[in-house]
Amino acid sequence: MRIFVTGGAGYIGSVVVERLLDKGHEVVVYDNLSKGHRESVDAPATLIVGDLADRESLQRAIDAQRTEAVIHLAASSIVGESITSPHAYFQNNIVNGLNLLEVMREAGVKRLVFSSTAAVYGVPASIPITEESTLAPTNPYGESKLAFERLLRWYDEAYQLRYVSLRYFNAAGATARHGEAHDPETHLIPNVLKVARGEAKEVMIFGEDYDTPDGTCIRDYIHVGDLADAHLLALGAMEKSSQIYNLGYGSGYSVAEVVEMSRQVTGRWIPTESAPRRAGDPPVLIASSDRIMRDLGWRPRMSELDQIIESAWKWTNKQA
Ligand code: UDP
Repeated sequence: MRIFVTGGAGYIGSVVVERLLDKGHEVVVYDNLSKGHRESVDAPATLIVGDLADRESLQRAIDAQRTEAVIHLAASSIVGESITSPHAYFQNNIVNGLNLLEVMREAGVKRLVFSSTAAVYGVPASIPITEESTLAPTNPYGESKLAFERLLRWYDEAYQLRYVSLRYFNAAGATARHGEAHDPETHLIPNVLKVARGEAKEVMIFGEDYDTPDGTCIRDYIHVGDLADAHLLALGAMEKSSQIYNLGYGSGYSVAEVVEMSRQVTGRWIPTESAPRRAGDPPVLIASSDRIMRDLGWRPRMSELDQIIESAWKWTNKQA
């Protein structure tokens, strides 16, 4: 298939592109390189440097490829930043996203895989979180992703745009070729590994007084390769109807457990420092992914935390 990937130069996007190319798809990446990296786009995918705000450029790019399906990952995605600058999140994730939908509509492209998030649920009333759980985002990032999901529903109804929305829990780990390199880095595992490499002094633990067994937040870390595989399954499955799926492993690890496991994997001492809670962090986020397993036959291949950290550690050391 000829697939147009927005945000394909980013962390998750680069792995999605890697998997698409492995399966023989033709790939065009559209990315403004605000967070992504030019060198993260594997050949023979084509990179078009462009912004979702630039509707003409988007239109030219989608038309030129004779796009059959879009995977939309380009978005602003830092929770803390969204709290201080909600306007930027609504602009980029909703208004610019709407540009994409309009260009698709004009070009007659009717399939979309959307990169959504567990942040649409806010603080869940019960664990594990299913797709039926209450939607109550606690930050503008989650709000913007939920708003876009809601737009999709009406595009489906009126224009037969078929979509699969994938609600990612905590993407982590690396493939042999691609890993996580944000600047600044806000995510836990890369920050822990920076300390292991001696590139930072200590890991800040944001909150040790949560209502969890060790007081630190619990997350469902999912290997980026397993996450990417779900996009390929989604592409093949949306012909009949649109769908929304959670993507996680159904098991959670606390911040303290991630640090401890990283000590074991790296064989390095990793100092930590207590820090205040981070705004908008729910204590526990664990997915039920039963629906995607049942409907699309998605099966995790890298679900052990040590495998995930090991893959990130190998990748990080190769970059140096
Ligand atoms: N966290 C932390 N120190 C860090 C980065 C993250 O204690 O340097 C915590 C964060 O507060 C959250 C968990 O680790 O409880 C996962 O955070 P991350 O930013 O990786 O992902 P999020 O859950 O926000 O999507």
